Amino acid sequence: MKVIKDELLRKHTSFRVGGPAKVYVVPEDEYELEKLIEYLYTENLEYKILGNGTNLLVSDEGVQFVVVEIGKNLDNVELLEDSPEGIFYVRALAGTLIGKAAQFAADHELTGMEALRGIPGTVGGAVTMNAGAYGTEIKDVLLSAEVITKEGKRLILSGDELKLGYRYSIVPEQEYVVVAATFALKKGDKNAIKAEMEDYQQRRKDKQPIEKASAGSTFKRPEGYFAGKLIEDCGLRGFRHGGAQVSEKHCGFVINDGTARAQDIYWLIGEVRKRVLLEQGVELTPEVKIWGNF
Ligand SMILES: Cc1cc2nc3c(=O)[nH]c(=O)nc-3n(C[C@H](O)[C@H](O)[C@H](O)COP(=O)(O)OP(=O)(O)OC[C@H]3O[C@@H](n4cnc5c(N)ncnc54)[C@H](O)[C@@H]3O)c2cc1C
Repeated sequence: MKVIKDELLRKHTSFRVGGPAKVYVVPEDEYELEKLIEYLYTENLEYKILGNGTNLLVSDEGVQFVVVEIGKNLDNVELLEDSPEGIFYVRALAGTLIGKAAQFAADHELTGMEALRGIPGTVGGAVTMNAGAYGTEIKDVLLSAEVITKEGKRLILSGDELKLGYRYSIVPEQEYVVVAATFALKKGDKNAIKAEMEDYQQRRKDKQPIEKASAGSTFKRPEGYFAGKLIEDCGLRGFRHGGAQVSEKHCGFVINDGTARAQDIYWLIGEVRKRVLLEQGVELTPEVKIWGNF
């Protein structure tokens, strides 16, 4: 398998920031991945999984732990034969982009994943985060996920067993590695599926700064509020620190104008949280995962 020393993580994150990973490993397939996890566990080596890096803020100084990439190396989506009457199972390896899996479903006239088409992460990242958009979450369509435990054992778990909730699963705390996911979908109308996907895509283009480097929504939605609205009401639209900025287009997104350091983004996130708490009395929790020291 490919092992790279001092690989710059900014090449692998949508924020386009992040220093080197001391050791960066790209297993060739799921079996190599299984062996690797077992090895890292027996050697007591700390590691983290990197999907498409679209929900990550990595520190400028980088990270000391081993980073294991699950992306193009584990990219495959297929329609399973043995589905029950009226249900169609689509299985995707964890490195497949969730958008690609959704498009595959649409191409097979299967409905259920339309709203997930525009999420830029991998299937593994989407299961881990229980990603969702426009009223659909992974848990609504997930039959099961195949995970490797830290001891290197394979398990097949349902959404309930993974305790999928709002941007939450037990994957990180159990140190599971998602290897594949199977979605249960129904037959739909090809044109209706296509129209729905186009509508969601247009809404993203209109409302979100998708042309800028970001990690999507920076904060989770606090119960009863919208993070973007709270931030806007504090007068923070366009608020800057170094090359980091609260998006002018959507205040729920922190963006990198192309010159930001991870430290700028981190500082800005902290300041926004502080001001929203002071002025609105609401605590914002970052949705973005933070790697390394700040
Ligand atoms: C422009 C933009 C728009 C976005 N829109 C949305 C949206 O509409 N809805 C939404 O929910 N999110 C959205 N996101 C955020 C992001 O795409 C999702 O959270 C996505 O699920 C992250 O997947 P990833 O592969 O990029 O994960 P990464 O960012 O690589 O990792 C995220 C976390 O998951 C873990 N992880 C990744 N893969 C695995 C695996 N195989 N096994 C175990 N752990 C794993 C990582 O260790 C990390 O803790 C958006 C991001 C951007 C940049």
